[in-house]
Amino acid sequence: MRKKIVAGNWKMNTSVSKGEQLAAEIVEKSKDVEGVVLVVAPPFTHLTKVADKLNGSQVALSAQNCAAETSGAYTGEVAASMVADTGAKYCILGHSERREYYGETDETLNKKLAQCFANNLIPVFCVGEKLAERENERHFEVVKTQLYNTVFNLSDEDFGKVVIAYEPVWAIGTGKTATPDQAQEIHAFIRKTLAEKFGAKADDTSILYGGSCNPANAKSLFANADVDGGLIGGASLKSDDFIAIAKSF
Ligand code: PEP
Repeated sequence: MRKKIVAGNWKMNTSVSKGEQLAAEIVEKSKDVEGVVLVVAPPFTHLTKVADKLNGSQVALSAQNCAAETSGAYTGEVAASMVADTGAKYCILGHSERREYYGETDETLNKKLAQCFANNLIPVFCVGEKLAERENERHFEVVKTQLYNTVFNLSDEDFGKVVIAYEPVWAIGTGKTATPDQAQEIHAFIRKTLAEKFGAKADDTSILYGGSCNPANAKSLFANADVDGGLIGGASLKSDDFIAIAKSF
């Protein structure tokens, strides 16, 4: 059975103390959330402090990225082993902001996937098309290529651990959301594509929707058979909104 997951991507927001406060609020308000895995992904600098706040709760910790290399002379990078050391269980990979602003390629992402698995981190692997690609009806092809070049290289065992996040770039931080029908259509396509390689294992893969998901639209998005939760940006910075989304199944 695949898991329902709601993960908050805090991006480059909050001070360490504000992050601790937000984590503490989420822990407190999540006590009556059932059947949903909750995840928060603060900036690297916050991980150990936020881990303390999450300790003993049902909220798991994630990083937003990790290095492609194991260790050594890579100034400014943070290794997957260091992320795992903080108590984090998850690591977001391939977010469109990383692909676009930091030039992350499929080749780099393959290395990062390997680093996550070597350190027992569950990758939340992002795919999604840009606006022009959607307008030219190339979204299926774009997402398929992203998966072929990365996730398709995984062993069956590692594939069994990965979480996919479909995030149309045109919906991220724009207030524009995919309609429930658009989300279901492409989530089903992603599952079918994954099944080409991994067979029935794809039925157990959680596929999250991301892109301006909020308490007002989460219910209609999560009601779809192939939408197993959300990767939430802006709305994850307010504990009430984040918890309301988690209660939208
Ligand atoms: C994201 O960046 O992962 C995201 C989904 O952002 P937002 O919810 O703000 O669109």
